[in-house]
Amino acid sequence: MPDSPPPIPFFKPSIDDQEIEAVVATLRSGWVTMGPRTAEFEQAFQRYCGAEHAKALNSCTAGLHLALLALGVGSEDEVVTSSLTFAATANVICHVGAKPVFAEIDPETWNITAATIEPRLTERTRAVIAVHYAGLPCDLAPIRELCTRRGIALIEDAAHAAGARYRGRPIGADADAAAFSFYANKNMTTGEGGMLTTRSQEVADAVHRMRLHGMSKDAWRRYTNTGTWRYDVVTAGFKYNTTDINAALGLVQLQKLDSFIEARAKIAAQYREALSDVAFVRFQATAHPEDTPAHHLVAVRLDSSRGAPDRERVMEHFRARNIAYSVHFQPMHLMSFYRERWGHQEGDLPVTEAISSELLSLPLYPGMTEEQINRVVDALRTVAA
Ligand SMILES: *Cc1c(COP(=O)(O)O)cnc(C)c1O
Repeated sequence: MPDSPPPIPFFKPSIDDQEIEAVVATLRSGWVTMGPRTAEFEQAFQRYCGAEHAKALNSCTAGLHLALLALGVGSEDEVVTSSLTFAATANVICHVGAKPVFAEIDPETWNITAATIEPRLTERTRAVIAVHYAGLPCDLAPIRELCTRRGIALIEDAAHAAGARYRGRPIGADADAAAFSFYANKNMTTGEGGMLTTRSQEVADAVHRMRLHGMSKDAWRRYTNTGTWRYDVVTAGFKYNTTDINAALGLVQLQKLDSFIEARAKIAAQYREALSDVAFVRFQATAHPEDTPAHHLVAVRLDSSRGAPDRERVMEHFRARNIAYSVHFQPMHLMSFYRERWGHQEGDLPVTEAISSELLSLPLYPGMTEEQINRVVDALRTVAA
């Protein structure tokens, strides 16, 4: 056996001395949980997105959950979303007692659209959660128009889409509520963390209250000498706040986000170019010329109708070459809970199921070398041979 080549990870966070120093400075400051750095991070993110309000949270999941509550979604309601998503998007719908209803994805963009959402709407539908898959913006204008016409809230799962733009406007700028993720493998990270942006003062206030136990005052105001010990609990809130340690990390990452996306875009373009003549490798549609994707993932579809080898075989080939991969995502509607609780089965969403079963996400992170990219390309080129 020849020596196996060095491993190519699926993802590597881009953290250097700047982040480390910012976190150390916060640790030395004497204030480590939500406080002044968090407020600064919120202001910076709000400016970056051009949003009216930004609220920092401990995850994107928390943001999606609070968005549903803030927009008044509850039991007896239905929420339409994509099945090609992470568990969080659908689970939060169940958390508020509502019913998740899955719309088909478009076969080219792999996003839900106004045309696929509309047939799923009923008189019980209260919200749509649009997932910007891989950071490619959903076609928001027709979805917004549909939601407005039917009196439905539009929530954006922007976990992949920090830094993306729709028709020149940053994702999050014009949202009823958009939830971003700063989980370890996202385009920018705070270790764990999230942000909710909204153009609604009411939603912002509700999220503010609910992220910290429903208390009328933050710890920062209670424990400093200008604060007061007195507080009220105005709703049964949650423990969804972030910390100044995470915010310190986030402030530095946010400054670098555009350069991270630029690096990812370059690698994504190299993959497309190098694999353009491999018939069975199909990519997600490119963005509308006025949109800017965030390139969170390079997922390829191993199209069996174009002679793709079985996905298991491709994965085995990657493993033998020490190349990591992932799958985004297995359809949510076919997970045990969703089958059992909501009666879903194979065949309910033929487009989503067909695409999902052939998806493979390739390694992608700023700092990937030419040699690494070539090895991944080579693995795909040689697997059919
Ligand atoms: C990562 C992810 C989430 C959840 O983000 P957390 O910050 O881990 O809560 C939600 N939706 C999608 C599509 C994701 O990829």
